[in-house]
Amino acid sequence: MSRTREQSTETVEPARADALARLAALADPELDNLTRTLQMRVALNQLDGAALVVDIDGTVLDTNDAIGGLGVNRDDLRGRPLWAPTLWHIADADAVLAPLVESCVDGRTGSRTIDIGEIEPRPLRVGVTPIFDPVRVSGPRIVTLLLAELHPLTDRQETDAIIAATAQKLAAAEDIFRAVAEYTSDLVCLHEPDGTFTYVSPSAKRLLDLNPGSVVGIHPVDLAHPSTRNALVQALQDASRRGSEPTRFRHRLRHRNGSYRWFETSITPIRDTTEELHQLQSSSRDITEQRETEQSLIKKAFHDELTGLPNKALLIDRMTQAFAASARTKQPVGVLFIDLDGFKTINDTLGHQSGDTALTKVAERLTAIVRPGDTLARIGGDEFVMLCAGTDGARGATAVARRIIDAFEQPFVLDGRDVDLGASIGIATAVGDNDPAAVLDKADTAMYEAKHEGRGRFAIHNEADQSLALERLDTEEALRRAIENDELRLHYQPELDLESNRIVGFEALVRWQRPDGQMIPPGDFIPLAEESGLIVEIGRWVIREACQQAARWRVHRTPEQEPVRIWVNLSARQLGDPDLIDYVQSAVDDAGITTDEICLEITESALMGDAESATEQLDELRCLGISLGIDDFGTGWSQFAYLQRLPLDVLKIDRSFVSGLGTEKSAATIVAAIIDLAHALGLIVIAEGVETRQQLEVLADLDCDQALGFYFSRPLSAETFDEVLTPLS
Ligand code: C2E
Ligand code: CA
Ligand code: CA
Repeated sequence: MSRTREQSTETVEPARADALARLAALADPELDNLTRTLQMRVALNQLDGAALVVDIDGTVLDTNDAIGGLGVNRDDLRGRPLWAPTLWHIADADAVLAPLVESCVDGRTGSRTIDIGEIEPRPLRVGVTPIFDPVRVSGPRIVTLLLAELHPLTDRQETDAIIAATAQKLAAAEDIFRAVAEYTSDLVCLHEPDGTFTYVSPSAKRLLDLNPGSVVGIHPVDLAHPSTRNALVQALQDASRRGSEPTRFRHRLRHRNGSYRWFETSITPIRDTTEELHQLQSSSRDITEQRETEQSLIKKAFHDELTGLPNKALLIDRMTQAFAASARTKQPVGVLFIDLDGFKTINDTLGHQSGDTALTKVAERLTAIVRPGDTLARIGGDEFVMLCAGTDGARGATAVARRIIDAFEQPFVLDGRDVDLGASIGIATAVGDNDPAAVLDKADTAMYEAKHEGRGRFAIHNEADQSLALERLDTEEALRRAIENDELRLHYQPELDLESNRIVGFEALVRWQRPDGQMIPPGDFIPLAEESGLIVEIGRWVIREACQQAARWRVHRTPEQEPVRIWVNLSARQLGDPDLIDYVQSAVDDAGITTDEICLEITESALMGDAESATEQLDELRCLGISLGIDDFGTGWSQFAYLQRLPLDVLKIDRSFVSGLGTEKSAATIVAAIIDLAHALGLIVIAEGVETRQQLEVLADLDCDQALGFYFSRPLSAETFDEVLTPLS
């Protein structure tokens, strides 16, 4: 029934302008009552249509003659409110007109109009225009009177009126906006749809030392910091695209002194009813200080205090991101686990202060090696991690490792003296989504390998990673030369007796150490060696070396002590080697040990080939007095008949069953069954891959005889165990 509109700019024809001026002049306090009444009537009669002068509380003071055309008597109206029932047929005239009158006292010029239906005989437009005291030129303007005008609406007028009102509404919103803008401490602006400033609030002076006038007409990009320019352009685009939701973003704007301040800005589009973008409105809060606090908190939470490098939390976060990117690009990510050699000595001899200085200097040297986009983190005392992402992640990792090792060639100067430090590096690579902790673990494992070969080396973890490193080598040829060039090493992993908690044996595990320091685990070259037949030669070397080691360890025990036995892994191809028996015998003899000090283990699958001849060979070995074991039990045949046929002493339960102990119910059931079976056949049971105390406890409960695994020790160089093998005297 009714529709309110406001109008702040209107085209005023001369007669109306004159009438408004006369009404304004009535504010003169010198004016006598008669003159006032006359002037009011003259002014009213200059106007077309019915018109009334209304006090600011809505009381009708006078009307013109045209009011009679609406069938109303002037004298019935004077002294009554504009919304008196005398004038209106509608019941709720007050609800519509009182607010219209009230809205006129806010200091803005121009008419407020409202269209009212059902006043007879046709719809009517009511406009109320505030009249201001003309004398008052500064401060808020004072409304002295209101002029109310009533016009019948034609259909055409009605449509035009709606269009006009929409534009006016925008203009009015702008008015309110400006009023707010003048008082707020935020930077409040209006922009062309393309972003150019059309209005800038006075706070620009305080915030950026810029005069608002000097900013109008320029584009905000001209004030933006290069690093946040794109964010700004994007935000302006988003804002002009969106409905009417504000677009929020953070960016930096230039202060007149050349520095930049951080702002949090929201941009709101202003549209007309046709959804056409009219302008943009922005308000920006200076968050420079807030950001500094935030940044320092973030820095504290994600950085190592001593070196300022990212800490483990941040590293994990970066790894997660790198893996996510790698899932898209399929490019491997390289992770270098760097552990310092000789750091403990510095701490112990020169004190913690010097230790801290050393770490800072190491951080500096490493930082110089970091490539753009890579991350260097300190994740523990003397442990650093380098994350190599991007296109060259994994391949780059090896190059970076070499550079790191080189960087440690120069001594570090601490308290005026030269101190040598080294770095042992483990490399793991991963493609796609990966658990950062697991990848770090792999790199850590590889670092261990590297470290136990002496200072300043690196090792690469894992088959997949390794194949990458191996691509570059003519592997087979290199492997062929590995033996003559003395590049093979044996590491030993202790086996513990679960009743006595003593070391009763070691498993010998071969590694290949490349001349460049890279340590290659057996999983990466044994399959190739088996394929090419090289395994026979490698296996001979392993047996010979293991026997020599058994001899060396002899000096570490008293004659009464049981010998520690060394278990050597035997491949299927070796079982097929007719010289095997002779060879083993001569290795034992040359070392000066007895055959009960060396044992051989074979996997289930190795026995599958030529079971007949295998059994023969094994029988002969057994006759020499060599103990035999079945390795990785549970992964191969799953027919147990052969267990009875073969001359075995030991059964090793595969790691995959052990890892489920304590967490998977079925694992304990299977392990219990295997142990029972083995015991029934008179075999000693050894569990492989024990990693937790929980697994160990379950195994002890199940009556397992011996165990080995990372829980006790990783495979390490022989010298590591010299001391533990020496009995206390
Ligand atoms: P394997 O005979 O089953 O050897 C045990 C493997 O499990 C070793 O890996 C050892 O480091 C690892 N391991 C031991 N305890 C744990 C544990 O608690 N958790 C986990 N996750 N792993 C554990 P490595 O040294 O990489 O050897 C891999 C394989 O290479 C061996 O498996 C064996 O099949 C073969 N191999 C190693 N040395 C020789 C050798 O001299 N000759 C032959 N033919 N094969 C060898
Ligand atoms: Ca084994
Ligand atoms: Ca095994």
